[in-house]
Amino acid sequence: MQSRKSKIIIFAAATLLIAAILGAFSEADVKQYQGLVASKSSVGESVNKAEKTTEQPAPESNTAIPQAKNTQIAQGLLTAHFIDVGQGDSILIELPDGKTALIDAGPKNSSSKVTSLIKQLGYSKIDYLIATHPHEDHIGGMSSVIELFDVGEIWAPKVSHNTQTFENFLDAVANKGLTIKTAVAKASGTQIFASGGASMNILYPFESSAPKDLNDWSIITQLEFGDTSFLFAGDANSSIITDSCKKPISVLKVSHHGSKVGTSATLISKLKPTNAVISCGAGNDYGHPSESTLAALANTTLYRTDLNGTIKAISNGLFVTFVAEHYNDAKEAAGVTTDEVTNPQATVGGEVTAAPPTANTDAETIVYITKSGSKYHVDGCRHLSKSKIPISLKEAKAQGYEPCSVCNPPT
Ligand SMILES: [Zn+2]
Ligand SMILES: [Zn+2]
Repeated sequence: MQSRKSKIIIFAAATLLIAAILGAFSEADVKQYQGLVASKSSVGESVNKAEKTTEQPAPESNTAIPQAKNTQIAQGLLTAHFIDVGQGDSILIELPDGKTALIDAGPKNSSSKVTSLIKQLGYSKIDYLIATHPHEDHIGGMSSVIELFDVGEIWAPKVSHNTQTFENFLDAVANKGLTIKTAVAKASGTQIFASGGASMNILYPFESSAPKDLNDWSIITQLEFGDTSFLFAGDANSSIITDSCKKPISVLKVSHHGSKVGTSATLISKLKPTNAVISCGAGNDYGHPSESTLAALANTTLYRTDLNGTIKAISNGLFVTFVAEHYNDAKEAAGVTTDEVTNPQATVGGEVTAAPPTANTDAETIVYITKSGSKYHVDGCRHLSKSKIPISLKEAKAQGYEPCSVCNPPT
């Protein structure tokens, strides 16, 4: 059995890529307590669909190897950081081709958390900046981001707000000589980007939308990468989201900080999210998240910035793996049963007090599979020359992959 520390060192030596992913958190803080995301059944379904609708040859044996239907373009990793900005939203997305998207920038008083993470990850540019709607808890940090970084496109809904915060946002845009693209979900589709195998589309506001509530102007975006998909719902109410998104998703950014307006049982039964993230402040004045939202998400693996700090969702096109800054008593507060939390060890104030239980080691160990092989490998194995898809050891074993006899990966 390897110690946690030596395992982390091996990670770092094995692959700079994985080291970079883990590097956003200190070793003591990293608590990866959930493994895969896309359930085996959902991957199996999509493989079956791909076989029916494309010219891919059927697997030769009945031990079908799961493949993303878009594997040929879904290469590398996509990481979404749900930044702990207290009561507000800010999601930084690292795209597989090195570009970045930022959905909201949190409230002004948390802007340094957003800008320091962008810097820490080594980026100088936000390629796609999305201001979901003009409330302070979403755009308060925008002027800092625009001032400190190069910015590509800025997207916002066609609505204004008579506040100093909104003025500051517009001034920052103008001072940089930038313009705002109006976010409208056209009947023919509105794409923000298709970049490195990942694509993001605007699902809402519709061309006909003219809501009274500013929250209901929230831009709703869907991000897809291989077989995995994310829905970012801003603060929109649940019926708008239900009308906007037509298909099941892997990860739901729960609307409106988990309020009862943003989530309904109807919505969750339609989207069937495997995982959900609530971004809200610890002990916030609004009582977010609401009991009804938590009840609707009872069968969804739930992460919360108020309990878990900043949360990373890492997609390889097949699965999404979560890493959280800390593990508090999330399972109790979130109503998650012990079985759903693979690492039941609590931390206090983000500090790990002892070595993690061995039960979690497979979920933390990264190995590699290929598009068509049945073995898993360590980085550097000659069998990885044509394709190399990162996956946790736990998931590789769960999917029936076997250790390569050439590179002798951990078992
Ligand atoms: Zn909000
Ligand atoms: Zn709002």
